[in-house]
Amino acid sequence: MENQHIIDLLKKNNLKVTTQRLLVTKYILSRFDHPSADQIYHDLHDKFPTISLGTIYKTLNSLKEIGVVNELGFGEGAVRYDPNTKIHINLVCTKCNSILDYYPDQIQNSWNNLIKNLHVKPIGQRIDIYYKCKECQNRDL
Ligand SMILES: [Zn+2]
Ligand SMILES: [Zn+2]
Repeated sequence: MENQHIIDLLKKNNLKVTTQRLLVTKYILSRFDHPSADQIYHDLHDKFPTISLGTIYKTLNSLKEIGVVNELGFGEGAVRYDPNTKIHINLVCTKCNSILDYYPDQIQNSWNNLIKNLHVKPIGQRIDIYYKCKECQNRDL
């Protein structure tokens, strides 16, 4: 995503545009492996040594509040961040903790029907499938 696009997004949601906030937002929106805050810190810190874990958490929280990322908690304090807020399934490997997005055909239609039948207006949603990924399966052979 272009910087200008992110600046517009932050401004539109009344978030002050700071270099660090821009950095974290750009990073998370470009990642599809559902990184943790520690992972983000690890990746950004090399290039931007002044960035703190606190700033990363604060930014992720703000992004969560404006609906730009989903926070996926997995117990024992493990939290991952998902920039994909559209309806999809997270394939979660319980062995290596990798998370992949999966879009079955018709999922949007099925979801719309479900919501219609339930007469609810969802604020958010999360669908996880837990499994053992190919690499982990192969490793166990
Ligand atoms: Zn795995
Ligand atoms: Zn996801």
